[in-house]
Amino acid sequence: MANHRRVFVLTGAGCSTASGIPDYRDEQGEWKRRPPVMIQALRSDEAVYRRYWARAYAGWPRFISAAPAAAHLAFAAWDAAGTLHQLVTQNVDGLHQRAGSRAVIDLHGRLDVVVCLSCDARTARAALQTSIAITNPDWLAEAVSAPDGDADIADALIESFVAPRCERCGGLLKPDVVFFGENVPVARYEQARHALAGADALLVAGSSLMVYSGFRFVRLAHDAGLPIAIVNRGRTRADDLAELKVLADVGSALNDALAATTQS
Ligand SMILES: [Zn+2]
Repeated sequence: MANHRRVFVLTGAGCSTASGIPDYRDEQGEWKRRPPVMIQALRSDEAVYRRYWARAYAGWPRFISAAPAAAHLAFAAWDAAGTLHQLVTQNVDGLHQRAGSRAVIDLHGRLDVVVCLSCDARTARAALQTSIAITNPDWLAEAVSAPDGDADIADALIESFVAPRCERCGGLLKPDVVFFGENVPVARYEQARHALAGADALLVAGSSLMVYSGFRFVRLAHDAGLPIAIVNRGRTRADDLAELKVLADVGSALNDALAATTQS
């Protein structure tokens, strides 16, 4: 961090675990819980669609009450210092922005926006939560937080849930995030790739890089001869491409590094 003036940072779930948003994967990169919903199933299977929205509805209050943690604050401080060139996050929680980071690229979208799969209308998730509550007045759930802001709920409760539809056209809705089975929008990918082309180093923070859309930036950086550093609690898909691997919590490692670079 002291030697580079234009660092491209790629962050993942490990930055938000301290905010109470659990990670999908364990330290070996395997699924901790059941794998997430695939977009094809969400589109074509009514039961999957209902279960998805029931869990998402129940998990939302806990998800939205999460506050930025040490890692988010450290990146915001580094951003203000001027040598962080571009922050790209695979997280969909908006916590980097709430901590004060500027010009963040949300590679996988944002959970606080909802998009219609038929007419493409975008609306605020908060408003949808209100309309779901009106449609399901007595529906209660014992919510247990899960990585994408949903929750574990008994099957009988899910069957009684009335899933939301687009108010404009009646179409199916999904959060404006890249689901498993979908690609990152081309324009967003190009924006991040362009930023990487202007960087002098790459730092991966809190990601196992098991999803290709994140991993490919490490491949691009490696092909361009950029130095690569990784801070993560477990193994990552790019450990053999990194010059520096720090096996640690992102928040504490970043704060230590910022303190050291300020002193030098
Ligand atoms: Zn619509």
